[in-house]
Amino acid sequence: MAEIIKNFINGKWVTGQDNGTFKSINPARKDDVVGVVTRSSRRDIDRAVDAARGAYKQWSLLPAPHRGEILYRAAELLSKEKKSLGQLVTREMGKVLPEGLGDVQEAVDMAYYMGGEGRRLSGETVPSELPGKDAKSIRVPIGVFALITPWNFPIAIPAWKICPALVAGNTVVLKPSRDTAVCATRLVEIFEAAGVPRGVLNLVHGSGQDVGEYLATHPGIDAVSFTGSCDTGEHLEGLCGGIHRHISAEMGGKNAIIILEDARLELAVEGAIWGGFGTTGQRCTAASRLVVHEAVYPEFVTMFKGAASRLRLGNGLKKTTDVGPVINESQFKKILDYIEAGKKGGAKLILGGKPFTEGECAKGFFIEPTLFIDVDPEMRIAQEEIFGPVVCIIKAKDLDEAIKIVNGTRYGLSSAIYTQEVNKSAIAERDLDTGIVYINASTIGAEIQLPFGGTKHTGMGPREAGGRGGALDAYTKWKVIYRDFSGRLQKAQIDRD
Ligand code: NAD
Repeated sequence: MAEIIKNFINGKWVTGQDNGTFKSINPARKDDVVGVVTRSSRRDIDRAVDAARGAYKQWSLLPAPHRGEILYRAAELLSKEKKSLGQLVTREMGKVLPEGLGDVQEAVDMAYYMGGEGRRLSGETVPSELPGKDAKSIRVPIGVFALITPWNFPIAIPAWKICPALVAGNTVVLKPSRDTAVCATRLVEIFEAAGVPRGVLNLVHGSGQDVGEYLATHPGIDAVSFTGSCDTGEHLEGLCGGIHRHISAEMGGKNAIIILEDARLELAVEGAIWGGFGTTGQRCTAASRLVVHEAVYPEFVTMFKGAASRLRLGNGLKKTTDVGPVINESQFKKILDYIEAGKKGGAKLILGGKPFTEGECAKGFFIEPTLFIDVDPEMRIAQEEIFGPVVCIIKAKDLDEAIKIVNGTRYGLSSAIYTQEVNKSAIAERDLDTGIVYINASTIGAEIQLPFGGTKHTGMGPREAGGRGGALDAYTKWKVIYRDFSGRLQKAQIDRD
């Protein structure tokens, strides 16, 4: 009998008031139910928001270094539980175990990093233009946050949001993806054990349309932090804009690697395999387009196809597995539809293109690593986010054309270039219009101490992760203080000769 997964409201684990449930399934083995999860009703969400609001004053007044110490304890507990949590990530989300462990490590890193912010959270002190007067800016919390998260980083992304939100003095209600509800629950248990006080961190389970939307637009919420698809994010941006609600949204990508004629091809192939098929292509930063200089195109295609055809599919818990399943049936169908669209659109399919059903894989959502070549940059498969193990190779005649191709989509998350020429890498660094640019590395592999996010339709509002210019800007607002101790009325700009 699978475990019942509950909501966490005002410091208590509770089932939803309408008693409904949904199942979280192992994508590698559909008959493995990871958890039967309580479904939240509107009354549950009201209670969670009330709890967060009720806890806000006291939490925001707790000195930030003390809030940071709770995050340090969470980091320690996460480290201790890394193995079991990593295995859970693999079982519930499907990514291979080393990546499941990496998902947890990212949360550990974030908790330590943001714990340190408890002793920084710095603003500015600047001189006043008037005598006997101080001028400074300070960061203050925003209030009660709705945190809405996707399934592809089921521990890391909720932690990216919870840690900076809490250290800054906000209280939160987390609504994770239904597909990874159990991982989110284990994460919240760890924060509870680390000593987060009652009401400061609440968790509600349920669908995006019912629970997510009601939560994001709830009158008791001050701000929304969303990570997920462009369609959902833009819909929420519209709703929040209409009610003057602060929202930051990190959304999809159509990331690309440029491989120039002077690139070290073995290194580029390795990076492109990792970027294209790591996490089964289900990363917002996945390298779904490879833009290859015509001089090395045939050689690169042969090498890349060879490496991709050697990838072994299977359950991510097995040491021999390189590529796990895709997350669920609707993604499985969507990816296969995109493969059909690629074929109909005139791209040349040279590898994969079908479900993979050998042995145990027949029980899960597996799709063969798929490779299209001679792809036109305007085709749907080269423009839209597929979010699966599908890579498109596009030919370019020079660096200029390659950069135009990379920049020619609505997204702007991550890009990469392989070249040994320092000047070319500098031009790419300058001209690639993405939030993250890698030189001689794949499009994936961001570290938590720098801001993470993208341009154009990928992102809205301050970035995730990092400190200044990233998460601290997302989870605090500025207050400016002037203190006049001159004992007389002084007028800025006016008391001048
Ligand atoms: P999704 O948009 O379907 O769902 C994300 C979250 O939003 C889920 O919790 C879902 O329940 C909720 N949701 C759905 N509809 C909602 C609504 N109407 N109102 C409120 N909440 C709603 O995305 P997904 O399939 O879970 O995740 C994959 C997407 O996430 C991809 O597009 C990927 O690129 C993106 N992603 C982006 C980043 C980034 O940092 N840029 C990181 C990871 C994933």
